[in-house]
Amino acid sequence: MPVVSLRDVSKVYPPTSKGGEPVVAIDGVSLDVEAGDVYGIIGYSGAGKSTLVRLVNALERSTSGEIFVNDRNIAGLPERELRGIRLGIGMIFQQFNLLNSRTVARNIAYPLEVAGMPKAERAARVEELLAFVGLSDKAGAFPDQLSGGQKQRVGIARALATQPSILLADEATSALDPETTHEVLDLLKRVNREFGVTIIVITHEMDVIQTIATKVAVMDQGQVIERGDVFDVFSNPQHAASARFVSTVVKGVPSPAELAVLQERHSGRIVTVSFRDSEVDQSAVFGEFTREGVSFEVVYGGINEIQGRPFGHLTLSLKADDVAVDAALARVRTLTNVTEAS
Ligand code: ADP
Repeated sequence: MPVVSLRDVSKVYPPTSKGGEPVVAIDGVSLDVEAGDVYGIIGYSGAGKSTLVRLVNALERSTSGEIFVNDRNIAGLPERELRGIRLGIGMIFQQFNLLNSRTVARNIAYPLEVAGMPKAERAARVEELLAFVGLSDKAGAFPDQLSGGQKQRVGIARALATQPSILLADEATSALDPETTHEVLDLLKRVNREFGVTIIVITHEMDVIQTIATKVAVMDQGQVIERGDVFDVFSNPQHAASARFVSTVVKGVPSPAELAVLQERHSGRIVTVSFRDSEVDQSAVFGEFTREGVSFEVVYGGINEIQGRPFGHLTLSLKADDVAVDAALARVRTLTNVTEAS
């Protein structure tokens, strides 16, 4: 049962300059997010990720298509009716968006004030939220007195105040160092598991996807070009543009500049071979090179792990005559993915 369902949704912004072209930020996207998912949205800057999540809580209105949130089509709903829908959707931001003039407790209380919750009830709820995010001792502190990780924990407490069923996270850990990122991701995992909150995370960080996402969609030029199980999309992307994006965040895939250096440094033919957990028998792959008398040297590589399953890439410099290398590569291609530097 999807809690968020987009059907052929588009968003076109008016031209940003006089005589300019309209900007198609979202171009016919259909996407289902199931209850309990932690759904990662990835892609290059400008791909449409932020616009997509802002459509889900109606911070932006769609140009066409249907957007179902908990079974209600919110596209075209008047502003007055959207307020209730928004209470069911929390959001956290890269820059935390806390009110600096309010204490931590009063930041968390803010959405409850807006929702008209009586004062005593509000205080009890804030206390509960502070305890959940581990900041009970910071109730009276101001945002300026907190570290980045603590600020984001306040952001999470505030987002959860009205007990939403959906949490949207827009680059929520991109301003944090790796250790703090992990603390915040652990907290988000608890939000998902303990409260059953469905989470949609926009990120460009491999760490985030690796640690918490259960599914992922890759966006490019306003479209979702690939989606599915995180391990599948990252270890074996099907679309050229998603492969290009994935190669920038996974370990072990040389960039075009790195390939150029490798080609200069090694006289053999440079190929990158992929390995996916037990699906690819590494000794069989290397056996094919040996069988054809091709000598190989590992010149680049890395192993990644998603949900406990390893996958990786090794770049080899292959030396033998072209006929032997071609014969070995043809056989290796029946076992796994191979790309050769041109
Ligand atoms: P991402 O989050 O993937 O970086 P965005 O959703 O922010 O991408 O942007 C998608 C496209 O829409 C970009 O071309 C961006 O310039 C454009 N865009 C975003 N917001 C506006 C706006 N308010 N007015 C005009 N164009 C916009």
